[in-house]
Amino acid sequence: MSAPPKPADSGTEGQVHNFIRHWIDNDLASGKYTRRVWSGKPGPAAAQAGTAADPAKIRTRFPPEPNGYLHYGHAKSICLNFGVARDYEGVCHMRFDDTNPEKEEQEYVDSILDAVHWLGFGWEKFGADHLYYASDYFDLLYGFAELLIEKGLAYVDSQSAEQMRANRGSLKDPGKASPFRERTPAENIALFREMRDGKHDEGTHVLRLKIDMASPNINMRDPAIYRIRRAEHHRTGNKWCVYPLYDYTHCISDALENITHSLCTLEFEDHRPLYEWVIGKLAEFGQLQVPLPQQIEFARLNLTYVVLSKRKLIQLVEEKHVSGWDDPRLPTLVGARRRGYTAAGFRMFAERIGVSKADSWIDYSTLEECMREDLNNTAPRRVAVLDPLKLIIDNYPAGQEEESRSPNHPQKPEWGERVAPFSGELWIEREDFMETPSKGYFRLFPGNKVRLRHGFVVECTGCDKDADGKVIAVHCNYFADSKSGTEGSNNYKVKGNIHWVSAKHAYAAEVRMYDRLFKVPHPGARREGDAENVERDFLEDINPNSVKVITAYVEPLLKEAKAEETFQFERHGYFIADRADSKPGAPKFNRAVSLKDSWAPPKK
Ligand code: ATP
Ligand code: MG
Repeated sequence: MSAPPKPADSGTEGQVHNFIRHWIDNDLASGKYTRRVWSGKPGPAAAQAGTAADPAKIRTRFPPEPNGYLHYGHAKSICLNFGVARDYEGVCHMRFDDTNPEKEEQEYVDSILDAVHWLGFGWEKFGADHLYYASDYFDLLYGFAELLIEKGLAYVDSQSAEQMRANRGSLKDPGKASPFRERTPAENIALFREMRDGKHDEGTHVLRLKIDMASPNINMRDPAIYRIRRAEHHRTGNKWCVYPLYDYTHCISDALENITHSLCTLEFEDHRPLYEWVIGKLAEFGQLQVPLPQQIEFARLNLTYVVLSKRKLIQLVEEKHVSGWDDPRLPTLVGARRRGYTAAGFRMFAERIGVSKADSWIDYSTLEECMREDLNNTAPRRVAVLDPLKLIIDNYPAGQEEESRSPNHPQKPEWGERVAPFSGELWIEREDFMETPSKGYFRLFPGNKVRLRHGFVVECTGCDKDADGKVIAVHCNYFADSKSGTEGSNNYKVKGNIHWVSAKHAYAAEVRMYDRLFKVPHPGARREGDAENVERDFLEDINPNSVKVITAYVEPLLKEAKAEETFQFERHGYFIADRADSKPGAPKFNRAVSLKDSWAPPKK
């Protein structure tokens, strides 16, 4: 099932050339869109006619339904739609596809807008704010539906949902015409108005297009375009009790907004004939400006070790497998942000995976590598001891303290240095000491010398143990003339170099060590040996150890870390001061990604 990740299409970093860009190049070269006009806001042909030339060379849109939080897959769509608009002197509209009153909420609208901004994109262009809602077109959509009825192209069907399903036919068999298909336009208009006016119950009637019940494409077998819903809409309140369906709403919204290239995922390929039919008819009747928008499909993001479906994400949140929508383990954009993933990392990822016409799986490590690369560039270095063991320097003068200096970033001298206190009692990593060293071990063991990074050379003299034989402290002596940065330091050649923090000065920080939320690449997929008909529950594949909360000793400077500041904890990885529960002077840290890709499936 898991194909190797597809290489990105060729092109230069920063502007990968893909088939969509070729398509746009061709359209612009042919002058297809040069005569389009734009009144300054979405509208039908009559409202656009005679207005100024459209200042946008192309228009794309990002059209989420506000029924959940955005996930990593949406980031691909956002980077694509906003990215091409930016590169072709166009504009990408932010549009809410809000035609499902029961499932939609303002909370989701707000979080979606926030996430798109966070990713580095905006919808203000050419002096206007291109934030739109399909619900703003309800009046127009309704009017167009009446027009289609008058033209004999739509009818009210009063079959039950089951009858309609049975009569739709199958891939092999054509559908059967509804007994209501030949209602006259006058009857249909009257009934449709009654539906609108709340005279009928939910499920009693729908409005359907009259296309072709024998079409090999099931989407063309008289699709329903309006249904009765007695639900309060988050923007239009109780004004409507009929709501338009996606296939009808989406193409018309695109056309009203002068969208040139309507980019969507591959599962909509079979809907394209319907997309073109609806707006084609309305353009024929003079309702929509031409040229009409072009739907172009691309492969959705499939990423291993996560689930990218709102339904599954909602389940993870509602059943409390995670702490909320912004749980750092969840592949939502709010989760990613809390995790310490960066917007630039997502943009790099989108470029690298490219856009193609064929579905494939991207390995999770590709995303992690992008985050690592960006954070390596942007995160200052700090020291943290995650698994602390006391190191006592027996010959260090009691009560003495001094300063140790180290660069904020080894490749960026312009970022300057920082100062950390040094003293006779330090915290070091437990793994940096072995009483009986294994072969090739160069760190602390009795009789061996190591350098304390940016500090002194010390020689290990032994250790203390508790009653169970567990090492509780390591002893050493230091060489007073060996300090890094002094002349004497050159006289010491040691193989090991370990990090430390002064025990007296360290800040004891809560650190959340996050791991992947699922322990298998394809959560919920059938396993080897499963019969064909076995359905697995993706929840079975949750990694039971996806977070470990520890107390780490970190350098004192980190006590002042502000929420959302990111750091490289040397030798460990990239961490962020948590935005949700850090307090001033008391940050908590989340691990975004380890320093190297060393992920292995968790042990059972
Ligand atoms: P889900 O399947 O998770 O519910 P959706 O497609 O229903 O997602 P929408 O809010 O309708 O969610 O999506 C908004 C836009 O994001 C759509 O244009 C959709 O094609 C795109 N999108 C959603 N998931 C992905 C993905 N995995 N990869 C690329 N684009 C995606
Ligand atoms: Mg959708």
